[in-house]
Amino acid sequence: MSTENSKYDKMLDELLAVSSQNLPKVNETLLRKAFAFGVEAHKHDLRASGEPYFTHPFEVAMIVAEEFPLDDTTIVATLLHDVAEDTDFNINIISKEFGKEVADIVDGVTKISGIFRGQEITQAENYRKLLLSMIKDVRVILVKFADRLHNMRTLEFVSPDKQRRIAQETLEIYAPFAHRFGLGKVKWELEDLAFKYLNKEAYEELARKIKAKRKERESYIKKFADPITKKLNEYELNFDLSGRPKHLYSVYRKMVRRNKPFEEIYDLFAIRIILDTDDRNDCYTTLGIVNQLYLPVPDRFKDYISIPKTNNYQSIHTTVVGPDGRLVEVQIRTKQMHEVAEKGVAAHWRYKETKTATDKELETWVNWIRDIFENASRDDQRKELLESFKLNLYQDEIYVFTPKGELRRLPVGSTPVDFAFEIHSKVGYHCIGAKVDGKIIPLDTQLNSGDQVEIITSKNQHPNKNWIKFVKTHKAKNAIRRWINKEEDEIIKKGKELWEKRVKKQKLTFNQTDLLKLVHNLKFDNTRQFFKAIAQNTVNLEEVLSASKDKEVKEQSAELKFDKFADIARGDIGGVLVDGKKSGIKYSYAKCCNPIPGDPVIGYITVGEGIKIHRKTCTNLVNLSTTDASKLFPVQWPEGEESLFVAGLTVKGEDRPGILNDISHSIVTYQNTNIKSININTSDSMFDGSVTVYVNNLDHLNRLIERLKKLNGVFTVERFESA
Ligand code: MN
Repeated sequence: MSTENSKYDKMLDELLAVSSQNLPKVNETLLRKAFAFGVEAHKHDLRASGEPYFTHPFEVAMIVAEEFPLDDTTIVATLLHDVAEDTDFNINIISKEFGKEVADIVDGVTKISGIFRGQEITQAENYRKLLLSMIKDVRVILVKFADRLHNMRTLEFVSPDKQRRIAQETLEIYAPFAHRFGLGKVKWELEDLAFKYLNKEAYEELARKIKAKRKERESYIKKFADPITKKLNEYELNFDLSGRPKHLYSVYRKMVRRNKPFEEIYDLFAIRIILDTDDRNDCYTTLGIVNQLYLPVPDRFKDYISIPKTNNYQSIHTTVVGPDGRLVEVQIRTKQMHEVAEKGVAAHWRYKETKTATDKELETWVNWIRDIFENASRDDQRKELLESFKLNLYQDEIYVFTPKGELRRLPVGSTPVDFAFEIHSKVGYHCIGAKVDGKIIPLDTQLNSGDQVEIITSKNQHPNKNWIKFVKTHKAKNAIRRWINKEEDEIIKKGKELWEKRVKKQKLTFNQTDLLKLVHNLKFDNTRQFFKAIAQNTVNLEEVLSASKDKEVKEQSAELKFDKFADIARGDIGGVLVDGKKSGIKYSYAKCCNPIPGDPVIGYITVGEGIKIHRKTCTNLVNLSTTDASKLFPVQWPEGEESLFVAGLTVKGEDRPGILNDISHSIVTYQNTNIKSININTSDSMFDGSVTVYVNNLDHLNRLIERLKKLNGVFTVERFESA
């Protein structure tokens, strides 16, 4: 135990030393506490290598301190990153002991580990997005990169199956991810390690060939570089010149992509000159020196200093003809540029396709991160920027799995119903329940990234209109609406039929305007709603109809005054012809339809009142005739009748100032027509009026009607009828 303790002491000292060297500030007490906590939490666990488990979090923390020295909080979190997942200590305990910030980072790392477990990687780009969507703090990514790097370095101890899976995942997810974050060094190491496990033969062959060439290579580079070194010293430039290490995987990829043998790819020698200067002009001076000494190959020159790469990589690349006619690539950059290339989290997340707002967000955010790396000494700024790390990356999207492990992208807040419609509209229509990670959940539950969702369907299930309230995708919304409308159409149809049947039974008539008025009075938005209410029995049809009947009676009694007047007015006229002759038979005009000359008319024999003259279209007449058709009597208007009759009109339209005046003006200016009365009521910016006028005949009346209809704001003009 004591030897183990002294081993741990050594490790702790090492970590503290690297941390205080690379970080502006280290909370040593907290770091020591985390270290001890980690040792204790993992004390019963061993790595696959047989070493105590804590060597892993320790090594990962060392990588963080060396490669991504952001702050001490990250180091503390790294030491604890596997505690919540693998030991009896949960996130709450970590939060209590080390604060919420540390706990949030540990929680993020734990969740990421959970996503990939047991999943085949089929849509790498989606997985990368999934990762991003789950990450609220950049430090989670950095810890995860370091964790993955150490796991890759120690991959030899796990089973071949697991080796393949982890290596594949690393190559397809983590390495491109590292590249996009500008973590060049980590990317190369991850790629080489993955290559080693995915294609062992090719890897070993390449490694062997490179090793065999090493001596030759080194001596050639020395021969090439010596004159450059001499010149640079003359110019008093501080620099570091080295043969550029070749990464196996990049050599291999070039061989495959260009279909060329190892020798051709690898014989392109490369050196890198890193200048210890803040002046980029020194890079161009150096370029001049190199070009003086060796002949440049014209089309191989690239100036990434003037025009940096999209991930902010800056360097000059030139290829020259070296001794023995061999081509040598020379990279020239400043120390700061080199830092950015190697470990700046400086990549822009760019897509070949479209650049969305979210990508912009990432770009901004990545720029902050780069600032932090570049301004490591400015502590205040660092702190402020760390606050901004609560990011919004892809947080408007979640990624969930189908039972087969396929990823589906959905908007944040999506529910199992959204997911169901995303799979297929049939699945959506018959969706009855859902399971997340094997547990049944309500259909309105909001899904989270990484959830595995299974939809339970039933042939008899149909969409519920309440689903509209919680679904998020347009797809689901539209599908549910379509369904509801279809269902509603049938209900409305039923309601309409019921209505028409009742109206007919009660011998009432409703034209469109009357119906709209009624619907409006009953506070329905439209007739569809009214009919729906009828079908669903939420409106009392009997009440509605008897109320409108009462109203009709009232309207009729109002008309009685008019009728009285009409009777008096008609007293002057010659009267109708019965059987083509004026006869002495007592007659009067029916009050229900007020016929005027021109109207087709018919007589009806009454008891005590002689013949009543009705319009042929009078609805009362229809009823009367069904009871006793023998009482009907043909009558005609006499020709050349010059007398005046009174007729009534209803006028409806949009209320506006001057409408009454316009109506009366329009009437009186037509053949000196006299108005008997005008009455207009307004409500809800609509007006509803009745006008009684003196007319000669039907033709006169019809022309008046046409005139009024042309008035601005007038919607309908109808002859006044009592039924
Ligand atoms: Mn780990």
